[in-house]
Amino acid sequence: MPGSLCSVAVPDLVQIRGQNTTSSEQTPLPEDAPLVYVETFGCQMNEADSALIKGQLRRAGYGAAQGPEHADVILVNTCAVREKAEQRVYGRTTQLLRHREQKPNLVIGIAGCMAEHLRDKLETTAPHVSLVAGPDSYRDIASLVDRARAGQRAVDVRLDKTETYEGLDGHPDDDGVSGFVTIQRGCDKFCTFCVVPYTRGRERGVSPREVLRHVRHLADQGYKEITLLGQTVNSYRYEDGDFAGLLRAVSRVDGIERIRFTSPYPVDFSDAVIDVIASEPKLCPYVHMPVQVGADPVLERMRRGYSRAEFLTLVRKLKGAVPDIAFSTDIMVGFCGETDDDHAQTLSLMDEVRFDSAFMFQYSDRAITYASKKLEDDVPDEVKGRRLREVIDLQETHTRASHAARVGRVEEVLISGVSKRGDKMVGRTPRFQSVLMPLDVGRPGETVHRTITGSTGHSLRSDPESPSTLPSSEP
Ligand code: SF4
Repeated sequence: MPGSLCSVAVPDLVQIRGQNTTSSEQTPLPEDAPLVYVETFGCQMNEADSALIKGQLRRAGYGAAQGPEHADVILVNTCAVREKAEQRVYGRTTQLLRHREQKPNLVIGIAGCMAEHLRDKLETTAPHVSLVAGPDSYRDIASLVDRARAGQRAVDVRLDKTETYEGLDGHPDDDGVSGFVTIQRGCDKFCTFCVVPYTRGRERGVSPREVLRHVRHLADQGYKEITLLGQTVNSYRYEDGDFAGLLRAVSRVDGIERIRFTSPYPVDFSDAVIDVIASEPKLCPYVHMPVQVGADPVLERMRRGYSRAEFLTLVRKLKGAVPDIAFSTDIMVGFCGETDDDHAQTLSLMDEVRFDSAFMFQYSDRAITYASKKLEDDVPDEVKGRRLREVIDLQETHTRASHAARVGRVEEVLISGVSKRGDKMVGRTPRFQSVLMPLDVGRPGETVHRTITGSTGHSLRSDPESPSTLPSSEP
């Protein structure tokens, strides 16, 4: 499950704030309808936002281009969380310019966190970009696109404290089995290294009524699994409702068989939420919980709000309450002032928790953050690189061991589709491990019980000669 830095889908129709209503009906488009291609960088929040953008444009009469070469409008939905992602986006928009040779009126636009973050710079650094849309301007994305197509520079990067896109459904480009529902936007934590509170604004919850409408809508379309999304998803609040209550309500939606959420914030993990995971069978025994580092002085400088001991206590509590629970995490090396001893504590925390998987990064200074202004980015690049390699090597050892421990077990696998090579079916276990299976195992959306026979890279394998022995999930 790709992560953000915290790492990071009632009544049937709701109309709020003006012209847009939700409808799953798709009126056919004329053959000459303009085509849009949306390319997404970053986390699942961005994937969900891209679906929202596509849904809005589809309702306004824009078709979906199969590739950038067919598009009249290309929108790059960006991520400003890491410097690398930002550089890739710049490079990508320049690359896309070549399509103007065939389509001189091609509009290239930037949406998302980078649009908000670099609004002033983009006009000079990327003059070929004629549309800039921040994360709170997607409700009106079609009029921005119209303006850009009419030759104007269309920019809307305002932050809107109330925008939760209530009443709008996206046009997702997923497998039709696992869907995403955004339940919270923005973030109030202000970790010292992170741009998200500045690019996505303050935290606000989507109303439970809207969340349930969205989940039911996905269930009606045949989705079996949903992942609730939020930057710090378990701090969710709406009026007097909390995350535990929302999880229970979502788990009562017929048709949805599995529920996940990402990314919870360690400080906001209440006993009530642990109780729901332990007691609701639809809640998967898997938590992606970003720790970032294992040393208290660094956690303090990051202003994460928890200590190493508190994080480990929470992990023990979850392991005690939810048998066989799996964890993944985000780890950052080389933050300001990180010593070799601090780094060793990160490695030892990894040994203690034994995460199934992790997103691992080296710190890069992001302008406008507290760390950029007040702390010294004093860990040399080669040290950051070495520490990152050590973290990756250790994680690979843990991932291999976790895979090896599943061999011989019977797992409940939700089939999501055909593998990239086309020679296997792919699915996931409740613990979020990917399983490669024979092509004739079943259809996407079906759940099968398969004996795990081995592992390849980052997946488990269930070979044809190892048929299922229904229905236990334990040896
Ligand atoms: S500020 Fe902290 S909690 Fe919020 S998105 Fe960034 S890393 Fe996550």
